[in-house]
Amino acid sequence: MYKAVILDLDGTVYVGSQLTPGAKEGIETLRRLGFKIMFLTNNSMVSRRMIIKKLEDMNIEVRTEEVLNSGAASAIYLKRKMNRAKVFVVGDIGLVEELLLHGHEIVNDYRQAEVVVVGGDRYLTYNKLLDAHRAIIRGALFIATNRDHALMVEDGPIPGAGAVVAFLETSTQVKPIVIGKPEKYIAELALEILGVAPHEAVMVGDNISTDFELAKKVGMKGVLIKTGLAKNNIPEKVPFVNNLSELATLLVREG
Ligand SMILES: [Mg+2]
Repeated sequence: MYKAVILDLDGTVYVGSQLTPGAKEGIETLRRLGFKIMFLTNNSMVSRRMIIKKLEDMNIEVRTEEVLNSGAASAIYLKRKMNRAKVFVVGDIGLVEELLLHGHEIVNDYRQAEVVVVGGDRYLTYNKLLDAHRAIIRGALFIATNRDHALMVEDGPIPGAGAVVAFLETSTQVKPIVIGKPEKYIAELALEILGVAPHEAVMVGDNISTDFELAKKVGMKGVLIKTGLAKNNIPEKVPFVNNLSELATLLVREG
């Protein structure tokens, strides 16, 4: 019945640079059982190339088309809407890489921007925010890769794309188009790439308000995993597994 598994990365497959317990075995079992796999993350600071490198360094084999992040999804969204867009970026190098890869032009002058794309940015400055603000009030399309308030790195949570988006949303009073989880666009794109219908896919993640809610919204089965954010206090009726090895068992049992 299920043909594909969409796996969140941070807190599900790995935490920092460590695989979660059972992740490698679980992914191998899912592959052996014939499930198509997609790794889906809101992290737009990195590119798919960087994600693949990270997974390979942890001995997880992965193909390019099995990875989708909110940066790549934003670039695809813009490609379909405008073909080639002039983009002012408030974001990190991984986001710039994905936009270039999809044929967009990066502009540094806000007056030339047709689009402002916002993601997490370790090189954020007031001037960058000022120029993005000016581009948006002049009518540039406002795209948010995601609204995550923070993301987890080795030494604890750091501000996420949502914090930067909130700044520009407040200053411009313009609502962005949001690409990442829990918005539907990224999940529907993942299903399209996988070539399966929503009811044929299972979405697994550690965040009830993004991963699980999105699965429900799109019509997929959602499963919470207890290797990241969601540890205890999981509401009744929300299916959960302790780790990815258990997931394979659960899916076999459910047919
Ligand atoms: Mg997660």
